Amino acid sequence: MRVATYASHSALQILKGAKDEGFETVAFGPSKVKPLYTRYFPVADHFIEGKYPEEELLELEAVVVPTGSFVAYLGVELVEKMEVPYYGNKAVLRWESDRSLEREWLEKAKLSLPRIYEDPDEIDGPVIVKPFGAGGGRGYFLASSPEDFWKKAERLGVREKEDLSRVQIQEYVVGVPVYPHYFYSKLNGELELMSVDRRYESNADAIGRIPAREQIDLGISTDYTVVGNIPIVLRESLLMDVIEAGERVVKAAEELMGGLWGPFCLEGVFTPDMEFVVFEISARIVAGTNPFVHGSPYTWLRYDFPVSTGRRIAMELKQGIAEDRLGEILT
Ligand code: ATP
Repeated sequence: MRVATYASHSALQILKGAKDEGFETVAFGPSKVKPLYTRYFPVADHFIEGKYPEEELLELEAVVVPTGSFVAYLGVELVEKMEVPYYGNKAVLRWESDRSLEREWLEKAKLSLPRIYEDPDEIDGPVIVKPFGAGGGRGYFLASSPEDFWKKAERLGVREKEDLSRVQIQEYVVGVPVYPHYFYSKLNGELELMSVDRRYESNADAIGRIPAREQIDLGISTDYTVVGNIPIVLRESLLMDVIEAGERVVKAAEELMGGLWGPFCLEGVFTPDMEFVVFEISARIVAGTNPFVHGSPYTWLRYDFPVSTGRRIAMELKQGIAEDRLGEILT
């Protein structure tokens, strides 16, 4: 068996972790990035050009570790149909890609969620407007009143109430962004806290460098394009809440869709009242785990060797082989 992934996102970490656990590795993607995975960072034993070279992957007896890039480039439908074994539960994809189903899942897990405004004319505080299907925070905008909403929504082609199915209007929660990364081992029935990051976003993280008056004069609006990730170590008294939120998400997934296993991430903000308000779940490895190729403070507390999320995935695959239980974790 070989470990394969799409050459982007967190592939360096996934393939390095797999090699550390003794697997042969495969990267696939555009030929332009081949040197990155074979020469500059020699983590891929094989590089295949292509978006999803199914035949070659089957021949190599590869297991695909999905990333956000892989799912985004291939699309949920093709991922559901792929024949190459996939690490994780594919049933999760539908729940995650539909904002209403995602909300149902997070509500069932009893997480604190931002209020959703069905009717923009009820906006009575700051809101963040998210077009459906927008990736990487592109096209999001902030508004503070119904008038402000309608004025700004026009550039998305949202002019009347019938067009509202194209956007979700969420309460804008004021606090600091915190993204905890978890790993649920289906084989051991245990949740692990792997690491925590915050994103470094352009231009959201640049606006504070410009005085308020100039911000208004320049008419700057906020974008959330991720440029990188910054490690966070949480205040210790917050850890139990974060862990319990993860436990409830796993439990809700077992009831709704047959489980969530492997890496996942809750994306939210901590308010000044110490409440963790979650606005999104990523049900696979997130790029926020990339600062922790050599492990994080949390994995170091549990393991006496460096464990990244990529390596943790490989450890699970190795255990699956040793216990003859691979079938339980691949779909
Ligand atoms: P992903 O790439 O993980 O699918 P995304 O980048 O498309 O997500 P979000 O994670 O939903 O988009 O949000 C982008 C940015 O907007 C983040 O910086 C986040 O902190 C901020 N944000 C999103 N929703 C809220 C909210 N309800 N209140 C405050 N900030 C928010």
